[in-house]
Amino acid sequence: MAEHLMATYGRLPVAFTHGEGPWLWDSNGKPYLDALSGIAVCGLGHAHPKVTQALCEQAGTLLHTSNLYRIPVQEELGERLCALAGMDRAFFANSGAEANEAAIKLARLHAHRRGIERPEILVMEGSFHGRTLATLSATGNRKAQAGFEPLVQGFVRVPYNDVAAVETAAANRGNIVAILVEPIQGEGGIVIPDADYLAALRRICDRQDWLLMFDEVQTGMGRTGTLFACQQASVLPDVMTLAKGLGNGVPIGACLAQGAAAEVFAPGSHGSTFGGNPLACRVAGAVLDVLEGDRLAEHAGVLGERMLNGLRQALDGVDGVEQVRGRGLMLGIALDRPCGELVGRALTEGLLINVTAERVVRLLPPLIIDEQLADSIVDTVSNLIRDLLAP
Ligand SMILES: *Cc1c(COP(=O)(O)O)cnc(C)c1O
Repeated sequence: MAEHLMATYGRLPVAFTHGEGPWLWDSNGKPYLDALSGIAVCGLGHAHPKVTQALCEQAGTLLHTSNLYRIPVQEELGERLCALAGMDRAFFANSGAEANEAAIKLARLHAHRRGIERPEILVMEGSFHGRTLATLSATGNRKAQAGFEPLVQGFVRVPYNDVAAVETAAANRGNIVAILVEPIQGEGGIVIPDADYLAALRRICDRQDWLLMFDEVQTGMGRTGTLFACQQASVLPDVMTLAKGLGNGVPIGACLAQGAAAEVFAPGSHGSTFGGNPLACRVAGAVLDVLEGDRLAEHAGVLGERMLNGLRQALDGVDGVEQVRGRGLMLGIALDRPCGELVGRALTEGLLINVTAERVVRLLPPLIIDEQLADSIVDTVSNLIRDLLAP
């Protein structure tokens, strides 16, 4: 019983004992195909041998020393991530929310240094940036914020995928210093902006001297078909945050920055006891090895396209299906009604899926799935949706 756990989650009545690749087994020995990856975390699947090996080796060598000392494996990971993302410097944290906290603090400090005493950060409706007070305040979901007022000030909100609204904000508010935005909204319902949206934001930021900060906590680490989603729009942000897939289940977050943004923090201006410890950094390095060695981002792009086409075909003309959308292995099927019950029905069928924004079925399978498993997810999910929507 969970009576001694704070009731922050309405949990499904199942517990898994072990996993391998895209499979999980519950305490009765029933297998489940994991099309959620622990919410975009286990991109390499469960119990990946290279991750396990790195974890065990590092655990037997050195877990933690604190950031009062040099941590070579952290320096190495920072260098590698920066090279891959076109960034200059990294700050390591333990979660997505913390990575975004770092970005928010960085934007504010950058502004204060330039004499802007009440800086504002532009954020989007429908966004999700985390559950800490500042990231919750940045999040565009009134329900998640309800009851936690007073929220942190200094955020201006506009609709997502609306360049004109950003222009209006730029014209009317003199204290904006940065935009914080997801390249694709995850929790918000797999919302993919127009092809030129991110580039338009880049142009506005350049003109206004704002920082462009991409929250790639969910879209990053190969999920959408490239290592980072912004690469598909050929847009380089000033700041990029990562977490979820970076540690394949070992908690780690990163705030990367380039140019002037990379030089903002100085000793004492930000920190973390655990952030970037040898264990987390060693594992993230192993995750990168596998992502690069097995070309998993590319693979995710190919399989994602296959699933998108499969779902569109299977659900074509089905009344109640509003849109099938996705980029790589980040897929959403938007229905015209709430569909949370699909999660339980899929569980019975031995498939793990998720529903977000109440009526969007969300699929985030591990990047290592093969064509056969991709097709089987498509079949099961489209059958479940047809059944739900059947008159
Ligand atoms: C999950 C998520 C976060 C929060 O990450 P945590 O590790 O839960 O703090 C932030 N931004 C986005 C886009 C996310 O999907």
